[in-house]
Amino acid sequence: MGGTIGVIGSINTDLVTRIEAMPALGETRPARSFHMGFGGKGANQAVAAAKLGASVSMVGRVGDDMFGRSMRDNLVAQGVDVAHVRTLRGVESGVAPIFVDDDGGNAILVVAGANGHVDPAAVSEASGRLRRCALLLMQLEIPLETVYHTVDWANEAGVDVCLNPAPAVARLDLDRLRGVAYLVPNQTELAQLSGLAADTPDQAAIAARSLLDRGIRRVIVTLGADGALLVDADGVDAIAPVRVRATDTTGAGDAFIGAFAAHLAEGFGLRAALHRAVAYAADSVTRAGAQEAGATRAEFETFLQQHGLA
Ligand code: AMP
Repeated sequence: MGGTIGVIGSINTDLVTRIEAMPALGETRPARSFHMGFGGKGANQAVAAAKLGASVSMVGRVGDDMFGRSMRDNLVAQGVDVAHVRTLRGVESGVAPIFVDDDGGNAILVVAGANGHVDPAAVSEASGRLRRCALLLMQLEIPLETVYHTVDWANEAGVDVCLNPAPAVARLDLDRLRGVAYLVPNQTELAQLSGLAADTPDQAAIAARSLLDRGIRRVIVTLGADGALLVDADGVDAIAPVRVRATDTTGAGDAFIGAFAAHLAEGFGLRAALHRAVAYAADSVTRAGAQEAGATRAEFETFLQQHGLA
């Protein structure tokens, strides 16, 4: 048994409406269908790691509404420890109304709701548990102040932080992320963070290296169908992709990070954990949805065998 993973992050409900075309302001239109799904980058990553058998403890906030109750129940059902997921009176839960048109184009609104209350005090309150974690995972769907606070706290406590700088936020202050053990952006987020192009793997390697100069210990760039790159003091390592027929890449980054954390916490070496994360995320894009698309440990081992990766 490996160490526990602490996730300090968002818990959302995705409200997905399929539409023919976007309504204009003031217009009412019939829509094709509606679907609710469990989401939020924090919860998605926590659930992916838990499905792989990791011990996961989440720090988060939900509202005292039907969404909050079902999101908390879902985390419990997935095996995530929710001792530090509090329900806030008089606050609405985080929701994401998502509109997908017939061409696959989408428009997304994110209502932070209770996620906006994941403040530094929420982290302090959980510090006894977080101090004993093997790794802390964060994303940017909670207040930035909390992210900076946690990085400082973890540097003091000697706990490694893995930060997924998603969604891309223009005002992220790199100087306050010094000491982060693993920064895991996709190419869009990397370009935004570094101010450099990151369209090709070569460009991404240069952009990632510029972040090492700012005090980030390792940068792991996810490259979609091209796999991933590890950039650290030893140089640049390409993590080869696993070829699959992708049907829905929603949540691929979350599957990657959840799997990476689960394998690291279990004692896999860095490169082995990355190869397995690439494979886990590749498998997840063959199925629809975010949390639902992630395989269990047994299913993942079968996938590895089928692809000659076991
Ligand atoms: P992204 O956030 O799009 O960079 O994707 C994260 C991870 O998901 C990648 O590093 C891959 O492991 C996996 N992935 C995403 N899209 C694909 C795809 N089309 N085919 C195979 N793997 C994918």
